[in-house]
Amino acid sequence: MLELEELVRDFGSHRAVDRVSFRVSEGRMTGFVGGNGAGKTTTMRMIMGVLASNGGTVRWQGSPATAEDRRDFGYMPEERGLYPKQTVHSQLVYLARLRGQGTAEARRETLELLERLGLAEKAQARLESLSLGNQQRVQIAAALLGSPRLLVLDEPFSGLDPHAVDTMAELLREYAAAGVPVLFSSHQLDLVERLCDDLVVMAKGRVVGKGTADELRHRERPRYLLVT
Ligand code: ATP
Repeated sequence: MLELEELVRDFGSHRAVDRVSFRVSEGRMTGFVGGNGAGKTTTMRMIMGVLASNGGTVRWQGSPATAEDRRDFGYMPEERGLYPKQTVHSQLVYLARLRGQGTAEARRETLELLERLGLAEKAQARLESLSLGNQQRVQIAAALLGSPRLLVLDEPFSGLDPHAVDTMAELLREYAAAGVPVLFSSHQLDLVERLCDDLVVMAKGRVVGKGTADELRHRERPRYLLVT
């Protein structure tokens, strides 16, 4: 389980993340919702350790998360860092190798994931030649390489058509069912309510609602509608 305790991040005098606490549990998909500038990306960066916090703790399986723990976290960052001139296959094999896989294993896993994401026929295409939706799928594939123990995905569904959203959500659900906690951010409240078990709603750096999708729908909807 991933637990955030009173996480804080300031940029100058602006508090972007203000004592944020929530859990992402095994077997659950957790949606992280909020409008522009609510603090979702900043929180995810602190989870991944790519941004330092000014206070609070990120716990993984009960202890403060270490760099070694984080090597096992699959991350799709907000800034999409793929190389446009590379082919889909070579880019993913390269990333899998960086995560310590042998070449044969990296190739096998890459091909399996591409098949699963409906991208097998694009394996030898350059990334820059793909539609935005397909580039997005490759980004998600990159986060799924190397049997991650936790998934942290920043806006994984933006730019995908409804069918692609459903296919991707089904795949993420399989990871969750296999015991991998899944956290993803989105601006789309309806989508998150439909796909997730748990929701965390942020506004102006603070958590303004959290619970199961049903609980929030019934009890807190008027409150969190204000923030989206
Ligand atoms: P969006 O959905 O638009 O990406 P978000 O919920 O992910 O929004 P953040 O990107 O975490 O929000 O931003 C939270 C606040 O922190 C915003 O006011 C933003 O301007 C500020 N912020 C984020 N990164 C930096 C930075 N590197 N320097 C200064 N301010 C920053």
